[in-house]
Formats: sequence, C-alpha cells, structure tokens
Amino acid sequence: MAEEKRRFREDAKTSEYLDIENYSLIKELGEGNFGKVVLASFKIKNQLTAIKIIEKQREEDFEYVRREASVLQIASRCPFLCRAMATFQTKSLILLALEYVNGGTLENIIEDRGRLSNKQVLFYASELVVGIQFLHENGIVHRDLKPENILVDEQGHVKIGDFGLVCTGMYGANTQCGYYGTPGYTAPQVLLEEPYDAGADWWSFGVILYEMATNRLPFSPKGNLRQQVESVINREPEYPDSLSTKLRDLIKQLLKKKANQRLGVNGNIRDHPFFSTVDWSNVEKRTLKPPIKPSHESATGFNRKYISFPKEDPSETRMLKGFDYVDPSWLE
Ligand code: ATP
Ligand code: MG
Repeated sequence: MAEEKRRFREDAKTSEYLDIENYSLIKELGEGNFGKVVLASFKIKNQLTAIKIIEKQREEDFEYVRREASVLQIASRCPFLCRAMATFQTKSLILLALEYVNGGTLENIIEDRGRLSNKQVLFYASELVVGIQFLHENGIVHRDLKPENILVDEQGHVKIGDFGLVCTGMYGANTQCGYYGTPGYTAPQVLLEEPYDAGADWWSFGVILYEMATNRLPFSPKGNLRQQVESVINREPEYPDSLSTKLRDLIKQLLKKKANQRLGVNGNIRDHPFFSTVDWSNVEKRTLKPPIKPSHESATGFNRKYISFPKEDPSETRMLKGFDYVDPSWLE
C-alpha cells in the first residue's frame, strides 16, 4: 500500500512537469529552422529551463524530433552535452524543456574575442572531444557541429546542443547518406551525398578548430552546392603562421578529404601531440579551469515580461506515442 501511495505521488509530480500550463515564458533565446528556443520558468518550483518549441506541422519532422528527444535523454550521462529536463507535447506543439545553459555559445565567444589563443583552443577542443566521442560511442552522429550549436555554461564549460539533425544507430560499418548540416562546416562526403559515418563530425570539428584559431572558415560557405563542393574538394585551406605546428597538424589530420584517412575515425584523436599536456581523466571529470568566463547575462537579471506560447490549433490530433519524459534529477 505504501509503495502504491509513493508511486501515485511520484506520478502526480511527474505530470506537473508535463503540463504546459505550469510554465511561463520569459524571453526568446534563439531561433532556428525547426522553431524557437525560449527561456521559461517552471512555476511550481521557480526552476529555469530553455524550452525548444516545435509546431507539429510536417509529419516527416516527427522522426527528427523523436531522435532529438532520445539523444537529449542519453545526454544526461555526459557533462559536455545539453540534456533534457523534460519532453512533452500539447495538441499542436512539441516541447523540449532543456537545461538552461546561460553563458552564450562558442560563436559568441569567437565574435567577442576574435582569434583564440592556443591554450583557449586546447580547452574547448578537449571538452568537445569527450562530448563527440561519447555521442559516437552511443552510435550517434551529430551532423551539425558548429560554434552556434556549442553552448557554454555559466562557468565556461562546453555543452554541445542542437541534436535536431542527428542520426542514430551508427555502429560498426553503418553509414548514412544525404546532405545535412550547414555550409562551411560540412564534410565532402556529406556534400557529395556519398555514404558517411562519424568521420563527418570529425571534419566539422576540424573546421571549428580552424575557426577558433583564426576567426575565419577554412572553406568558403558562399555559393551554391556545386561551388561549395568545388572549394571543399579542390582547395587546401591557408594556414596562417600564428597557428602552432601541433594545432596546424591536428587540423590537417581532421580536414583529410578521404574519410578513411581522417583522424577521429583513423586513430584516436586523444593521442595527437596537440593534446600531449592534457590529462583526459581530468577533462572527463570537468576539472579543467575554463580560460574564459562568459560575460553573458546572469539567470536573474532580465525583465520578466512574459511572452506567450504559440496558439494551439484545436483541429490538430496527431500525438507522438511514448514521448513524455521527465529527468529524474529534476524531480528532486
Ligand atoms: P535546428 O538546427 O535543429 O533547426 P535550432 O537551430 O532551431 O535547431 P538550437 O540550435 O537547439 O535550435 O537552438 C537555437 C539557439 O537557441 C542556440 O543557438 C542557442 O543560442 C539557444 N539555445 C538552445 N538551447 C539552449 C539552452 N539549453 N540554453 C540556452 N540557450 C539555448
Ligand atoms: Mg542550431
């Protein structure tokens, strides 16, 4: 009987987190292809969360959202990934309540600071390697790694986010096909619609390292698909003298045009000389000291003028089965 009562209480608590009425929206944090990300408060406990709001428009998007939600749940096992606090839905909206990561993005850092120092690049690169390897060990290829999708928390640690384009089940020799991602960051195989694996993410990681160290992209994102392919396949990036020899070599190993020669897939990236001073167990424990403290706003300083959720469409009837989820740590 006591056990039954306890379970009843827990279910009631869980259902509070799955009810849109219990959230108030504070301000918009970002907008992308799929929808908006809005800072919200879970009113009952005054907890902040970043809610990604996706309107149920196209049935073919549901599969992407399901995949995104499943990765957001697995993410709770790695400190360098942005996790879900809850995922739920109304008749016409899908809601991904994410942990609020409030130091901005790596894109903001590069915009504010310009070129980053070797030491700063080493910090972000090390935390990103642990996050990316965790995804790959779990059969997940991100497919849209770029500074805008890399969040930074209050202390300055990295959180990879935006799992909207992931592919899952990528174990062993499994490959994927199809053009996904963002111009400037996409691997040659992806652009050419050839089969690819986790090597696609290591290419994007190489682009991100280049961008952090030079404040430029190695390959032009301009032009149509044919022009981008042309640039990525035929050109070698320019490596400015300011790059250290080890970093330059690391980027070259990651930007190998042939996927099977690319570091990350071909050899363990942790063993590259650029990382020779890194104690990986400290990185995993998140004990490296962030070299940059984000100057982005604190969680309390904004004007609480509430905005509203998009209007419900009462005619919508499609519900995603088995989608409701609350992270146990949020219930405590
Ligand atoms: P997609 O690329 O799948 O269309 P998207 O670009 O619409 O997705 P995200 O990249 O997940 O969506 O989020 C958009 C922006 O919202 C991010 O670049 C970031 O500025 C902000 N954001 C996302 N998640 C969080 C979070 N957990 N905490 C704070 N800000 C966030
Ligand atoms: Mg994004």
